[in-house]
Amino acid sequence: MPREKTKDKSKLFCSFCRKTAKEVPSLIGGPGVHICGDCVKVCNSILAGLPTDGFAGWDTLKDDDLLANLERSQAAFEGARAVLQQQIDILRKREVSWQRIGGALGVSRQAAWERFG
Ligand SMILES: [Zn+2]
Repeated sequence: MPREKTKDKSKLFCSFCRKTAKEVPSLIGGPGVHICGDCVKVCNSILAGLPTDGFAGWDTLKDDDLLANLERSQAAFEGARAVLQQQIDILRKREVSWQRIGGALGVSRQAAWERFG
């Protein structure tokens, strides 16, 4: 898997807990996402069938904390959208029809083209 190139590493954050690269000891990058060492530990516990604290939910955050998360949430959304666009661009280069792409996305050919064309 090719490594994602990011111009400004100070803006990287965990896609799961939203902690910045400065707040965690390690951050692992994937296509459009990142995960910190703490979240990897939680994943390992889940995979091992061990109990975890779980996520209390966005509605438990105070307004200021939720507002502080908006920029990171938007960046996560845009990262995922960029990955989706890359995949669709590859499919289009291979001349896969908008009909098939729309079908895979669960939308019409027209909706797929309008969104990603
Ligand atoms: Zn994390």
